[in-house]
Amino acid sequence: MKKELIFFSIILVLGISLLFLRLISPKEIDDVTPEFFCAEELLEKADILFVIPKFNNTPISENPEWCEYILSLNKTLGLHGVYHTYREFEINRNQAYLQEGIDEFKTCFGYEPTLFKPPQNRISKNNKKLIKENNMTLKTISNKIIHKIYHCPY
Ligand SMILES: [Zn+2]
Repeated sequence: MKKELIFFSIILVLGISLLFLRLISPKEIDDVTPEFFCAEELLEKADILFVIPKFNNTPISENPEWCEYILSLNKTLGLHGVYHTYREFEINRNQAYLQEGIDEFKTCFGYEPTLFKPPQNRISKNNKKLIKENNMTLKTISNKIIHKIYHCPY
């Protein structure tokens, strides 16, 4: 009986800690692209927006109003793949491939991305290296439990 009580207490404390961590950790929104509708309320609540530069083969820079709108929200912006195909970065990609995404991001927002999150949170060892070589911080699944992550469309 006592053992069960201790076990239950531990679970409770862990649960509360996790909830607290999620509350104070930055909120992230994935799959930000003009191709998806994303509620303004949700975008404003977030701290980090992860943008797909060429979803459906549509470059974000073709939509300067959208770029301006996203910039006006004053959020930290990160790169979320290039085309966001299924497990895009589990397949080894080269500099030219990644560069397409970086350039697109830069044309839209005026600066190069410093954060990268792979689609479906999957990334190969070689691609990890590639991201590092491009001076980007990699965000992966390890922080999914403590971070509350939203997706567009909402
Ligand atoms: Zn995604």
